[in-house]
Amino acid sequence: AVRLRPLQGGPDPRSPAVALFFSDRTKERRVEAMRVDFIATVSHELRTPLASLTGFIETLAGPARDDPRARDRFLGIMRDQAERMRRLVDDLLQLSRVELHEHVAPTAPVELGGLVMHMIEIMGPLAKDRKVTITLDRAPEPLTVPGDRDELLRVVENLIANAMKYGGEGTVEVSLRPADQGRAVELAITDHGPGIPPEHLPRLTERFYRVNEAESRARGGTGLGLAIVKHVVGRHRGRLTIESELGRGTTVRILFPAIAGRRPVL
Ligand code: ADP
Repeated sequence: AVRLRPLQGGPDPRSPAVALFFSDRTKERRVEAMRVDFIATVSHELRTPLASLTGFIETLAGPARDDPRARDRFLGIMRDQAERMRRLVDDLLQLSRVELHEHVAPTAPVELGGLVMHMIEIMGPLAKDRKVTITLDRAPEPLTVPGDRDELLRVVENLIANAMKYGGEGTVEVSLRPADQGRAVELAITDHGPGIPPEHLPRLTERFYRVNEAESRARGGTGLGLAIVKHVVGRHRGRLTIESELGRGTTVRILFPAIAGRRPVL
């Protein structure tokens, strides 16, 4: 049932104001449905590792009590499950922080060249483990954007991590260059993995959307990485595009507005 509230100025029920009122209620309901759905998904995502932890605690307290080999193996699994829960909670907190502040654009000058190099260095050991070489092709000049350093680090980390997770062995290419005649900075991250079927592309940045559920979980994904990226890019007034070709690989590209005062004189 739709409740009608009186509108200012004595409405004609057929006026556009009434139509607007109806569509507002529809939007409210949609937002509420999304919220309920989100809570259900988060609960499910947390319940799975929690159930596994509880199961192993029972086994360790009972049948496996005096079996040191089983104990070590189960403790290893429990550590992984706890780590998975920690990642999920971290990502949820990060996502809600970014969403909360989305209407306020961050303003501190962040030089992206140094930031990207720093992140590639941090990810070096993981890349080596996975037999991935990360290359950086960057313009020599400083490329500075108004931003939030921690959030931008997280974006670069998530994108390189995805390229390594889904791209398989080989190279991950990171490029950073001025765009739009110096008014913007373009960051692109390319892998040469199997690519993403086109029908999935529009939904990749939705929370918990995964092309392959089992693969994402097996690689320790929370399903929130690209949602975080999208919101950070939105907060930075940037533009995110994902291009992918089956059998060839994927490129994620972000265009950030550059610092206004540093625009070259044209
Ligand atoms: P996850 O934690 O599952 O990696 P993301 O939000 O980072 O979550 O990514 C969502 C999904 O998009 C992934 O589960 C994966 O299916 C797909 N995906 C992301 N990056 C790539 C990539 N570089 N190549 C292929 N698939 C990708």
